[in-house]
Amino acid sequence: MRQLIPYLVFPALMGCALTASYLQMVDGTEPATAALISVLIFGFAAIPLLERVLPYRPQWNQNQADLKPDIIYMLLNAFIPRLWTPIQIFVLTAVTAWLGSQLNNQLWPQHWPLLADLFLMLLIAEFGRYWVHYAAHKIDWLWRLHAVHHSPKRLYFLNANRFHPLEKLIFQIPEVAPFVLLGTPVEVIAMYFTFNGIHGLTQHSNIHIKGGLLNYIFSLTELHRWHHSQKIEESDRNFGNNLIVWDIVFGTFFYPKKREVETIGLLNPEYPQSLSGQMAAPFAKRDISKPEGWQK
Ligand SMILES: [Zn+2]
Repeated sequence: MRQLIPYLVFPALMGCALTASYLQMVDGTEPATAALISVLIFGFAAIPLLERVLPYRPQWNQNQADLKPDIIYMLLNAFIPRLWTPIQIFVLTAVTAWLGSQLNNQLWPQHWPLLADLFLMLLIAEFGRYWVHYAAHKIDWLWRLHAVHHSPKRLYFLNANRFHPLEKLIFQIPEVAPFVLLGTPVEVIAMYFTFNGIHGLTQHSNIHIKGGLLNYIFSLTELHRWHHSQKIEESDRNFGNNLIVWDIVFGTFFYPKKREVETIGLLNPEYPQSLSGQMAAPFAKRDISKPEGWQK
């Protein structure tokens, strides 16, 4: 049974969160609120608890810097994203649904089961997000913004929120635009943001999760840790946010089964860890995510 638990964590968390969103909506709760409540309970409450009970690397549960950066790190990278993510889920769900209803498009299939709708939405959104994420690793000015997300030296659930605000804005265009244009029902959008919220938090978490065959469908923790490797040849892989299927299609899937990722983070050990330093880093004279003189 103990060996089965790592395989059950992701399906159990996701199953509970999606069921909770669905039941709340059936009960008359407004869809954006239903998604928000599910992500707060099964993401922001359950995941940090599981990181303590079932850690992947116990040392990743500890902030290893000295006192001052520790306090700044906690305030800037814990509390602000903790407030920001639920608000973002609420606003995105509501705005996408409202824009869709204003345009009154009916291109979205009307009588599919909700889970089939969810998977279709994931497939479409992930196609755009795959290429934006790929570009963020290949195009200099986009990488400078995206480097903020790759700056942590350990992986834990709040890393899911560490993005430069400008990059967050760019990433959300391919995520949201297709559904506004297709007239996707608000219930499907709420299920998508429930999925996206729980998936992002588990994907970056320090929970000992095993994906098994699900690693060929979803971009789970075991795959995403490679994406945060300090080695470029390992981190330029597994670009999928929720699904890994586009990585399989486009040849960037990376799943070594006999070894574990080594160092996490950027090549430059001096990359700033403070919020103000990271907000300014993309606009520095040279790309400071890499040591001076470094050539790929
Ligand atoms: Zn990346």
